[in-house]
Amino acid sequence: MTQPKTNPYRLLPSVDEVLAWPEIAELAPRTGRELLAEFVGRSIDRWRSEIRAGELDAAGVRERLERGDLARSVLSWVEREAKSGLVPVVNATGVVLHTGLGRAPVHPEVAEAMARAASRYGTLEVDRFTGLRNRRDDRLCELLLRLVGGEAAIAVNNNAAAVLLLLNTFAAGKETVVSRGELVEIGGSFRMPDVMERAGTKLVEVGTTNRTRGADFRAACGERTGLLLKVHTSNFRVVGFTEEVGAAELADLGRELDVPTAFDLGSGLIDPEGAAPLGGILREPGIREAVASGIDVVTFSGDKLLGAPQAGVLVGKREPIARLRANPLYRALRLDKTALAGLEATAEMILAGRAAELPTRAMLTLGRDALEPVAERIAAALRKVVRIPSFRVEVVLDASQPGSGSSPDVYLPSPVLRIDAGEFGVEALAQTLRAGDPPVFARIHEDRLMLDPRTLLEGDEERLVTAFRAL
Ligand SMILES: *Cc1c(COP(=O)(O)O)cnc(C)c1O
Repeated sequence: MTQPKTNPYRLLPSVDEVLAWPEIAELAPRTGRELLAEFVGRSIDRWRSEIRAGELDAAGVRERLERGDLARSVLSWVEREAKSGLVPVVNATGVVLHTGLGRAPVHPEVAEAMARAASRYGTLEVDRFTGLRNRRDDRLCELLLRLVGGEAAIAVNNNAAAVLLLLNTFAAGKETVVSRGELVEIGGSFRMPDVMERAGTKLVEVGTTNRTRGADFRAACGERTGLLLKVHTSNFRVVGFTEEVGAAELADLGRELDVPTAFDLGSGLIDPEGAAPLGGILREPGIREAVASGIDVVTFSGDKLLGAPQAGVLVGKREPIARLRANPLYRALRLDKTALAGLEATAEMILAGRAAELPTRAMLTLGRDALEPVAERIAAALRKVVRIPSFRVEVVLDASQPGSGSSPDVYLPSPVLRIDAGEFGVEALAQTLRAGDPPVFARIHEDRLMLDPRTLLEGDEERLVTAFRAL
């Protein structure tokens, strides 16, 4: 006599039943009950579609329930959720200012100052000696002026915001004159011509892609001119038969014609005392030099070569900076207190002669001699812990890049680990490392995984080995 077949659908528990299981109920504080119910529902739905496809019968459902597979599936959704969003990673790409990985990591003391500002009340817009209202970036501006010169400064959310504020303040309803060779696109969404349009200014291109002279600017100037703008071609280089209008020449022209002038530096380089100079390594214009050229306003990013949190800084002459501050747009673009605290702390460290301690600066100045032992040490550790057959690790001389569109033609010699992933496959290895715990980002070159020790921070060496051990 054959037993009537049990309907597998009827063996599936309800969402409410599963939510009441102790091992599921204890997950609720991590996700909230609603999201947890959704994960339970999704897990049950998966089984349901397997039943529909004829891949799962009643016996299979019973067996899985006994093994605790449903609870495991819910847990894996919960864990996946916890790991998405912004999580710390190991940057082994060798790209020091990696925009996708958050650009400049700040010094631990700077991070501490940022956490303090975020978690407590602070003197953001009040002077504690007089009790009167003051400006949030008063102190920061004082520090910046000491660092790079100039008469006044103002800080906003990022350099894109700085450029927007600049164009809108001086050239809304008017024309902005720029060299045709400097109409840059930074990372897809920031194209100089588009930003100009949004700022309400009309772009007037002068010169040619490779050569622009002062006379070209002069010829384009008229009653409708609001601003003469120079833009550093951060992420590309024009070489060969070239000519550009220097900052000092543009500043002179602006003064002569009574038109404001500005220089968007993008990265901006500083070479303070007590730190190995970056000027010899990178080909980037210096902030101090740009300010000293006499240009009215110079703009640069906080989280590029300065090694600070995300910000945009505008430095220059007193009157033009006051006009920027009076623009109502400033209120929408201003810096938040956490970034402000981080910038102040970074500037203080540099002024105290501690620039060499800033992580990005240290990474950019690391030599082969310092990196080689690290690379060899990691290689030896990986050979011990990795269990993939035909996995090979060797240390070879390669190159790291500054990143974030600074000095695209500069390669810093770096001993790196070159990994042959064997049958695992290089793409699969890179993907597994990114999804792993801790996540590791590397670069792929000619079918090999390259791990660059230049961009490792304190503790990352151990994290890297942990990630490979888990493969
Ligand atoms: C990077 C860069 C920007 C944009 O700066 P963010 O800080 O990313 O907003 C603008 N102009 C130039 C020349 C740049 O290099």
